[in-house]
Amino acid sequence: SDGATSQRVDATRVSESDQAAAAARTTRAIAAALRDGQFVVHYQPIVRLLDGRIQGAEALVRWNHPRRGMRRPEEFIGAAEESGLIVPLGLHVLETACQDAARWANVAATATALGDDEPPVRPFVSVNLSVRQLEEPDVVPVILRIVERAGIEPGRLQLELVESLMLDTVGRPLEALRALAAAGIRIAIDDFGTGYSNFAYLPTLPVSSLKLAGQFAGQVDDDADVDGPDAGRESLSALALDHMVEGIVLIAHRLGHTVTVEGVETREQAARMLAHGADFGQGHLFGHPVCSDRLAAVFAGEPAG
Ligand code: C2E
Ligand code: CA
Ligand code: CA
Repeated sequence: SDGATSQRVDATRVSESDQAAAAARTTRAIAAALRDGQFVVHYQPIVRLLDGRIQGAEALVRWNHPRRGMRRPEEFIGAAEESGLIVPLGLHVLETACQDAARWANVAATATALGDDEPPVRPFVSVNLSVRQLEEPDVVPVILRIVERAGIEPGRLQLELVESLMLDTVGRPLEALRALAAAGIRIAIDDFGTGYSNFAYLPTLPVSSLKLAGQFAGQVDDDADVDGPDAGRESLSALALDHMVEGIVLIAHRLGHTVTVEGVETREQAARMLAHGADFGQGHLFGHPVCSDRLAAVFAGEPAG
């Protein structure tokens, strides 16, 4: 049995070095793809729940791979974070998103001039930021310069940070967030309520909105075993989630934060989230992520796909 154990250990070592080699390959491929301009940005509508009107969009990076097609971030963001390439990649996304947002504003203004009674929407763009980016010494002037070059008001840019990273956001990252917020850029906590939520830190952060992950809207986990032994718990947890959303919205509003619910897939979910007081919704019900030109058409009044 000793022999079998050492064989298993060897097998583990081999697979670890395989993994390291695979990660190194991915890192080299990401660096090359950045140089070759293969990273594109898609945008998913964020709507006001009250009337379903589009207010902005979240920028979601895609790798337009010459052989393997459009790759989702789950396939490369981890490797980009590990290698530090998330810093140049994140800046590329930010720069693209701000420039695209400047074009949507023009489109929305034109549509309004053509006879829509509603006041013009000043669309915002919401960009995911890695805490690695906030650790860069020049992050604040770099981001402010990108916003200025694009010619958008700072208030039309929102930066999303995941909750787990915000929790131990101290020192330089926190100072950077404060400086960006002071310049008028909005800060959102992404996937709020999925980590170890700690309401105590909320008032200390320069945050203007909370984003709730799809589970709060009642989105069913893809690998949830709905027919299994847990099936009876479905309705109970749905009720519990409703209470939690109500509570989070109440506290968020008291603190002056707006609430966006992600992963809204059905009309029922949208209606429930609106009843709980949530401000904005995002999800397949309102539109899938699309390229900038498609989104500009949505701002011009075409239905979102
Ligand atoms: P996220 O920030 O939570 O983004 C929302 C994800 O949910 C997106 O997946 C979106 O396509 C998906 N989604 C939207 N509506 C629905 C729905 O109704 N149902 C379901 N089942 N899913 C929906 P995506 O585009 O694959 O992005 C995955 C994650 O990758 C993002 O999660 C974000 O954490 C990360 N990411 C994406 N772009 C960037 C980026 O530019 N920088 C950084 N640092 N991370 C990024
Ligand atoms: Ca996000
Ligand atoms: Ca999210």
